[in-house]
Amino acid sequence: MNLFDLKGKTALVTGGNGGIGLGMARGLAAAGARVAIAGRDVTKNSAALKELPGSIAVLGDLADEKQCRAMVAQAAEKLGRLDILVNNAGTNIRKQPQDYSLDEWRKVMDTNLTSAFVASQAAYAHLKRAGGGKVVNIGSMMSIFGASFVAPYGASKGGIVQLTRALAVAWARDNIQVNAVLPGWIDTALTRQARKDVPGLHERVLERTPAKRWGEPQDLAGIAVFLCSSASDFVTGAAIPVDGGYSVKG
Ligand code: NDP
Repeated sequence: MNLFDLKGKTALVTGGNGGIGLGMARGLAAAGARVAIAGRDVTKNSAALKELPGSIAVLGDLADEKQCRAMVAQAAEKLGRLDILVNNAGTNIRKQPQDYSLDEWRKVMDTNLTSAFVASQAAYAHLKRAGGGKVVNIGSMMSIFGASFVAPYGASKGGIVQLTRALAVAWARDNIQVNAVLPGWIDTALTRQARKDVPGLHERVLERTPAKRWGEPQDLAGIAVFLCSSASDFVTGAAIPVDGGYSVKG
């Protein structure tokens, strides 16, 4: 028996066309799952599909409730069933708290937190029908720490941990395990922009991370396979850092 085998399972990975989402989607596909990736950019979707045998893409804006529900329904229909949902899509707008407009606050909250809630709601019946399933939500070091330039992002990532716990408790009876992953600093399009916006960030991360490097998207593949496979059937409501030791450094 291979505890990490995902053959016969299907997964929807939001934001699976790049960065951390693609790193996790690669891991799930390598373990045997058929994967649907969700994103807004057709070109990025097509490029990612080439790396993921047997996968499909669903196109749309997850921050829009109707589109988000439609994307989950489409993924379940095209894949024939849905066993796994990875709520990974996310964005950030970096400013001092006093400078955000309400639209900017809402954009970050809708993309990072509300979309995870709506997608989980939309996936629930499919996961239940499959006899149980897995939901993996992506938090951040900003689920734990504060920074001056992350008011909405930090609120959304703190919220995702509490959403994870609520769903874990509610859906345990349905054999659905819900966990969060808290990535450290990973080299992606999102953090390439952060390094432009925040002077000295690159060096500060290297200095504080005991592993002495930035993470790569493939560093998230293992935790994705673990949390989406039967290896984690008694793990639910957890928030697991994957951060090269960043969050435990005193
Ligand atoms: P990227 O910017 O590389 O990827 C973001 C992904 O989300 C893209 O695939 C993008 O696809 C998708 N996406 C964003 N907004 C929407 C939307 N409204 N509708 C549909 N898809 C959307 O970021 P990362 O890979 O770095 O981040 C992935 C997750 O990991 C995020 O939740 C982020 O907060 C979190 N994270 C990242 C860390 C890091 O160091 N990189 C650290 C901690 C957490 P498209 O452009 O096609 O819409």
